[in-house]
Amino acid sequence: MKTQDQIKYEYKRVSVYGKIVAGAIFLPLLCVLVFFTNTDAKFLLGIAENTWIIVYFLSMGILISMIKIYWKCPGCLRSLGSGWNQISCKKCGIEFK
Ligand SMILES: [Zn+2]
Repeated sequence: MKTQDQIKYEYKRVSVYGKIVAGAIFLPLLCVLVFFTNTDAKFLLGIAENTWIIVYFLSMGILISMIKIYWKCPGCLRSLGSGWNQISCKKCGIEFK
């Protein structure tokens, strides 16, 4: 059984890493999307639009897999669901803050 401090510490770590990974994957892809929706260009950084679409879906796949693997309650190890800043686990009720 983990202590309350351990739970809070682990949740904080999961939460920070989650934001970094999501930002690192999501933000560049959002820029790519904005680029292609606002211009008639077929290339960005020398990479074709079709290739970007493949990269986009692969990255989304990676992001979703990482969420499934790491986005868990430190107490009961079940999925945390949506929301970046959760106060407590919806499944076991353990407090994170
Ligand atoms: Zn839980």
